[in-house]
Amino acid sequence: MADKISMQSDGTLAVPDNPIIPFIEGDGTGVDIWPAAKLVLDAAAAKYGRTIAWREVLAGEKAFNETGDWLPQATIDSFGEYLIGIKGPLTTPIGGGFRSLNVAIRQIMDLYVCLRPVRWFTGVPSPVKEPHLVDMVIFRENTEDIYAGLEVESGTPEARKMMDLLYDAFGWQIRADSGIGVKPVSKTGSQRLQRAALEYAVRRNRNRVHWVHKGNIMKFTEGAFQKWGYELVREEFSDVAVGWDDCGGDPGDKILVQDAIADIALQQVLTRPAEFDVIATMNLNGDYISDALAAQVGGIGIAPGANINYVTGHGVFEATHGTAPKYAGQDKVNPSSVLLSGVMMFEHLGWQDSADDIIAAVESTIAGKVVTYDFARLMDGATEVKCSEFASAIVDRL
Ligand code: NAP
Repeated sequence: MADKISMQSDGTLAVPDNPIIPFIEGDGTGVDIWPAAKLVLDAAAAKYGRTIAWREVLAGEKAFNETGDWLPQATIDSFGEYLIGIKGPLTTPIGGGFRSLNVAIRQIMDLYVCLRPVRWFTGVPSPVKEPHLVDMVIFRENTEDIYAGLEVESGTPEARKMMDLLYDAFGWQIRADSGIGVKPVSKTGSQRLQRAALEYAVRRNRNRVHWVHKGNIMKFTEGAFQKWGYELVREEFSDVAVGWDDCGGDPGDKILVQDAIADIALQQVLTRPAEFDVIATMNLNGDYISDALAAQVGGIGIAPGANINYVTGHGVFEATHGTAPKYAGQDKVNPSSVLLSGVMMFEHLGWQDSADDIIAAVESTIAGKVVTYDFARLMDGATEVKCSEFASAIVDRL
């Protein structure tokens, strides 16, 4: 009998050995990568007597074709009920009423952390000289910032109204043919993200946390993010962490919390990657930084991600690339992104042993130069295998 994962009163998850986990296969190459990832996840779970009762839920094209709805309420309800789910990539509907299904799922479920660990696997082709120094975890705020979608279009009555309002209230003169976006950054939204990053650093024995921001220019949004971050360290984490200014850069055995201006940070993650560990930042900065960092360690086919609300316990783990429609159904693309998202999910569930086994097996498969087309074209002497064969090769090494 399969069981539900539940949230306990102490804020931790109660995870049975036979949990029900909803999954969205995903559009396009979802039909290739999801079965490949599932094969590995099931095998690694079974080694420790665990059985996942996968429950398919629909979103994207498959949902639209079967139900006429791009994101059925039943899918949201299922993620709500079973707390933890996983998804493949989804087509962004053109004119379907959604900017993006991924953004919609994050907003509807208030999944306020976008978590992106970025590390290198031996042998993965990389454009940098020392990719092994890249081992960072990005906490990107998921619900606020210029991404909140509060925009009015140039030339519309709404834009005119906004300009009049801003002029009347503040005397701000905005060029008449402008579009205008609003950038809300709240103390609540900032600190719940920063709290999650600090708690993660404590749990995972990480020794440095960076607030990345453009507070030198946007003082009351990005600057406030930085200020609230340091306040949080003093108010809630002073026994385990200390801000740079409060310790002169010498944290003793505590976690060092510092901040970096986003443009400099983007340089330094390249030139001094060993100095970065956990990074917490706002929505737009986080979008840029996640992709720039992913490129350093082999790019899009391998980067995993998750969207989490640590308070309610809800989490949706996801492939970070798109549907790559030109390869759909060819059993060709790299399944690592959704597979490693599954590994993150196992870690989140406390199944570290199964997660570690998969990581070791992926490492040994890639180090053995058994890889899908995307890596094979960048490696000398590689054996190019299909998506499903790559998964089988990993299972053989578990
Ligand atoms: P994409 O699907 O990510 O594909 C862009 C390129 O990335 C592919 O042509 C391929 O490069 C490479 N790639 C993607 N997945 C790969 C994999 N598993 N293994 C190896 N290489 C992989 O981006 P797109 O073509 O811009 O977007 C297509 C659709 O996906 C759109 O509808 C978009 O809105 C949607 N999308 C969804 C998500 C999501 O659900 N999270 C994210 C982004 C985009 P090569 O051609 O060089 O081999």
